[in-house]
Amino acid sequence: ADAAIDHLLEGLNPPQRDAVTHGEGPMLILAGAGSGKTRVITHRIAYLLRTGQARPGEILAITFTNKAAAEMRERVELLVGRATRAMWVMTFHAACARMLRAHADKLGFTRQFTIYDSADQRRLMKQCLDNRGYDTKRYTPRAMQSQISRAKNTLVTAEQYAETVGSPFEEIVAEIYADYDRELLRMNAMDFDDMLLNSVRLLERHQDVRDAYSNQFRWVMVDEYQDTNKVQYRWLQLLTSEHRNLAVVGDDAQSIYGFRAADIRNILEFEEDYPDAHVVKLEQNYRSTQTILDAANALISNNRGQMPKHLWTDLGQGDPVRVREMADEHAEARWVTAEIQRLVDEGVSRSEIAVFYRTNAQSRVLDEMLTRAGVAYQVIGGPKFYERAEVKDAIAYLTFLVNPQDATAFTRIANSPRRGIGQTSLSRVLAHANNMGISVWEAAEGEVPGLAKPARNAIGRFMDTMNALKRRAEENGPVAQLLDAVLHESGYLDALHAERTIEAQGRVENLQELVSAAAQYDVNAENGSLDEFLQQTSLFADSDNLREDEGLVTLMTMHNAKGLEFPIVFMIGMEDGTFPHSRSIEESNLEEERRLAYVGVTRAMRQLTLTYARRRMGYGGGGATPTIKSRFLDELPRELTDQPARISRGFPTPGRVASWSQAAAASAEYSADTNDAQLFKVGDDVVHAQLGDGVVTDLQPGGIVVVRFEGEGRDRSLMADVAPIRKR
Ligand code: ATP
Ligand code: MG
Repeated sequence: ADAAIDHLLEGLNPPQRDAVTHGEGPMLILAGAGSGKTRVITHRIAYLLRTGQARPGEILAITFTNKAAAEMRERVELLVGRATRAMWVMTFHAACARMLRAHADKLGFTRQFTIYDSADQRRLMKQCLDNRGYDTKRYTPRAMQSQISRAKNTLVTAEQYAETVGSPFEEIVAEIYADYDRELLRMNAMDFDDMLLNSVRLLERHQDVRDAYSNQFRWVMVDEYQDTNKVQYRWLQLLTSEHRNLAVVGDDAQSIYGFRAADIRNILEFEEDYPDAHVVKLEQNYRSTQTILDAANALISNNRGQMPKHLWTDLGQGDPVRVREMADEHAEARWVTAEIQRLVDEGVSRSEIAVFYRTNAQSRVLDEMLTRAGVAYQVIGGPKFYERAEVKDAIAYLTFLVNPQDATAFTRIANSPRRGIGQTSLSRVLAHANNMGISVWEAAEGEVPGLAKPARNAIGRFMDTMNALKRRAEENGPVAQLLDAVLHESGYLDALHAERTIEAQGRVENLQELVSAAAQYDVNAENGSLDEFLQQTSLFADSDNLREDEGLVTLMTMHNAKGLEFPIVFMIGMEDGTFPHSRSIEESNLEEERRLAYVGVTRAMRQLTLTYARRRMGYGGGGATPTIKSRFLDELPRELTDQPARISRGFPTPGRVASWSQAAAASAEYSADTNDAQLFKVGDDVVHAQLGDGVVTDLQPGGIVVVRFEGEGRDRSLMADVAPIRKR
């Protein structure tokens, strides 16, 4: 065992080793990107297990995504050489879901409670607004959702909110907040924010529960601590009150969830909350080249009040950061696609390449371009699998089977596929359930006053099917078989097949995919149950579909990229208004945007490329409009980038500087036949309006021709479609 422990410590530098071997008591590890914070957590867990200081069941390790949690568990198992099922290595939400499943009854829920995602939340908020007769165009469900979510994340209850309202708008929020919470409880449902809030309530109000958990978790570790909010902070406080063995790691420069009420003070004030905290600083970066680090540091130095850090690396200077200007988003996507193909041809694995963007909507153009080019890739986020209508329908069927109170699920499926059950009939059933204080299921089965005969029959048939399915569900067989039965017996698949459209076919495939997911679950789960399957699927976060080993290029937002690393990174859409996002410029929340850029840049190991488009389609229609390149690009020191000379001076872009008579003449003369890089071949003799004669030495994706001009002795990269250049 001693040799194994030595081996474990060998792969660490002195401060990392110090953190890994630190014994009892609170600890704060505050360090920059890529300095091995996450590695310290995995090694610390392994060390505690190896040395016998901890048993697996005593460990609680919190990460922000399921993907990060899975990776952490894998790493630990690799280090200790055995499965450690009893460890709690998971996200805040997953840990809360587990606690609440065991104790939901103490809060007035049943253990089969449903978890509402943000679309469900908005639907319910709209219903609450409608009930009170508010105009949902003026008071949008989305606005309500963000207010209420912020309140919940800062531990403000509906009553407390109501006491502090200061405007008519807030008065309405207060009403809706109370209604919404009441409705959730009535439907035996919680939203994402509630899961944390209710866990905190559980621990605060039930001493026995608190004692049990805080005794159990002798060792608590939290990654990405800079992104925790007040509720999460409170939750950790309650859980660690007994042993105080709380180790947190984070980087204030990577705090990017302010919009979800993450509170950077949690990390800045850790030493005040725990005066005896052992503080460790890590300064060696093991991920990136010096150039990439310098670029990241230059960028973040524009923020006020960062904690000073001195990151260094011995991975060498590396290549300059590449900056590329493109005509528009299509040229950008074309160029990035061609670059990826070139890299793959050179032997780079697709899984080593990632493209980041600010918002999901930006992925579509690239999505299409890569598909056309036949490059295997995956989009993390965007239209998520579990948010597709047919998948949600299928899940709603299963949900209604386990939770007969879930009116949202019932409303979703009763007439899907069409059974001739109208909106009015549905409302009657819901109202009847309310009036009688019974579940929707019971109401739908019984005599609902005021229902027309056809509707009554249709609902009766629907409930017969549901009852048959429920009997099957109660046999506790494999989830996949039950799901298959649901899809067939409900008539859902038949209805899709009858549509005979491509879209319907796609839906059928998605449902097949869901059945395989269930089958996968059946195989993996120790003690599988439909309840658990449903809870698990409702927790799937965006980055969960990441499958690294299959050689796929990864497309994701910068938010999703947190904690990950890729040898080759492209960041596209580097324009003011896109990134930094227009909303942040308006709200002057630039510093958080800059931290997001810092996160993006520091994911890159070897090569970083930043692109921007001169014109871009406005979101939500409208024509292409001119853009301004991102201020973040101007914050990068020139000597770290390879911005082609054309962009800075000497090669005025036709159209933009039409008043320069020479340029105007040049563009008029040359633009006609220079729109396409394909016109040039390596070896072509060319002539440039200002630089004279040269020869094409290389063609690069995105319409770039590399030309060596007579007497210059070096190559210049020119955009074929704008540079005043033509074949001789
Ligand atoms: P981030 O702030 O982005 O989350 P981090 O501080 O968590 O980064 P890690 O992801 O733990 O950093 O480590 C970055 C990379 O450096 C990983 O590939 C990790 O394996 C490697 N690394 C860290 N420490 C060492 C070390 N002592 N020896 C070799 N490699 C290391
Ligand atoms: Mg990390």
